[in-house]
Amino acid sequence: MPMSTPGANRGGRADPAQGSVAVVGAGITGLTAAFRLAQQGVPVTVYEATGEVGGVIRSLRRDGYLAEFGPNSILETSPKIVGLIRDAGLEPRRLYSDPKAENRYLVRGGRPVSLPASPLKFFGTELFSLGAKLRLLREPFVGRAPADREESVAQFVLRRLGQEWLDYAINPMIAGIYAGDPARLSVTHGFPKLQALEQRYGSLILGQILGAKERKRRGEVSKQEAKKVSFDEGLQVLTDTLRARLGAAVRLEAPVLGLAQADGVWRVTVRLGGGETSITHAAVLLAAPAYKLADIQFETAAGLSLRPLREIYYPPVASVVLGFRREDVPHPLDGFGMLVPAIERFRILGTLFSSSLFPNRAPAGHVTLTTYVGGVRAPELALRPESELVALTVGDLRAILGVRGEPTFAHCVLYPQAIPQYEVGYGRFKAAMDQLEAKAPGLFLAGHYRNGISLGDSIVAGHDVAERMVTLVRPRDP
Ligand SMILES: Cc1cc2nc3c(=O)[nH]c(=O)nc-3n(C[C@H](O)[C@H](O)[C@H](O)COP(=O)(O)OP(=O)(O)OC[C@H]3O[C@@H](n4cnc5c(N)ncnc54)[C@H](O)[C@@H]3O)c2cc1C
Repeated sequence: MPMSTPGANRGGRADPAQGSVAVVGAGITGLTAAFRLAQQGVPVTVYEATGEVGGVIRSLRRDGYLAEFGPNSILETSPKIVGLIRDAGLEPRRLYSDPKAENRYLVRGGRPVSLPASPLKFFGTELFSLGAKLRLLREPFVGRAPADREESVAQFVLRRLGQEWLDYAINPMIAGIYAGDPARLSVTHGFPKLQALEQRYGSLILGQILGAKERKRRGEVSKQEAKKVSFDEGLQVLTDTLRARLGAAVRLEAPVLGLAQADGVWRVTVRLGGGETSITHAAVLLAAPAYKLADIQFETAAGLSLRPLREIYYPPVASVVLGFRREDVPHPLDGFGMLVPAIERFRILGTLFSSSLFPNRAPAGHVTLTTYVGGVRAPELALRPESELVALTVGDLRAILGVRGEPTFAHCVLYPQAIPQYEVGYGRFKAAMDQLEAKAPGLFLAGHYRNGISLGDSIVAGHDVAERMVTLVRPRDP
């Protein structure tokens, strides 16, 4: 049932009676913000450039398989995520990942080795050499870096933990989260919590132990402990449901081309039905990717610009979803998936054991494996034709997991600009965004390019920006 109708005032004239909000982009950030605004009685219009909502979230049901090409799960780290699912009426359709699928594998020496699940098991693992294990005991005694020094993740890890930890733990983890390169990512902006642990406790290990107690007191859940969430028909259930709840407030195939601020309101120029239309809103939320925002014609009295956002690097990533007969995969697939360190010289970044995580991802007697190719490590590989992507992925899966036979399902999706990299120097973009909001009243920026790259971060960002906007845009009288 639609919750709100747009309150736009066509024709480009300012109408002080209108307290409506324009949301640019119907990814999870824009939809969450719009849903929260509409719930509070704020008239909202979501402008989405493409014919579908969800942004990078794409779930496909075909031939008995359920393929997720973008994100595969939400980490339930915040009550705001739980609240969104509840308020969208989706609790009956929510799935938590199978507790049996908690194992994580890292590839070492060409084969998957399970990550130790407890500190005790850690000392017995073959994943790390004795030297690397002993290095961990020294970590609490490594001094802090000056608080104002910005290091790359690689510099930070080398300083605190050494080369083997960088090669076999952090490099694959960065590939799994950012499709990124630790030598380029900023620890300050990409992993602020890691830097905070060092600054606060002087040690990552002590910080993990002491920080856990504090998180518990605050009711928060760490990413390691958080439950993984999806829905019976994949993550698109969430964005499709939010869209349905917003009803006519969502305008598809409506790219925003221009934003102009004058007389205290925003004139939003949108391509709609083959023509261009200007619609006046009291406030605007920018929830599209940074490189798309940079293309928007932008006019403010303060002479501000969105163009610098174009420099935030988004590497290409290809998602290769493959189905196999169960008997053709000798590995037990008893886990979340496996990550491949660059030093191992395979072509894939990692593979999720999707059908082990959630039910109904593959027909009976079959499994689904979701593999990512490209990223900062090998951007050119992501751009290969589909047949080559499938062949190179199958080749690596044969070598690492012992997969036999041919795939029974194959589908690839290329994200030409997939995930923003919070690289060393990213602070200049943050400063520019802060300045835009400070100097252009009624303009808000939120989403993966500013508030963290995970789905959970985007949901929290959408929720929080809606709270900020409500204080500016007065709700309609009931
Ligand atoms: C391959 C891949 C795998 C991932 N895996 C995970 C995972 O497992 N777990 C996790 O937590 N996160 C994952 N992420 C990250 C997470 O999915 C994203 O950070 C998050 O979905 C971003 O949501 P968003 O709404 O901020 O942006 P987007 O999803 O990019 O949505 C932005 C929307 O803006 C629209 N738009 C663009 N220009 C305009 C315009 N001019 N006018 C109007 N609309 C416009 C776009 O069409 C799009 O719909 C993954 C991302 C990718 C690409």
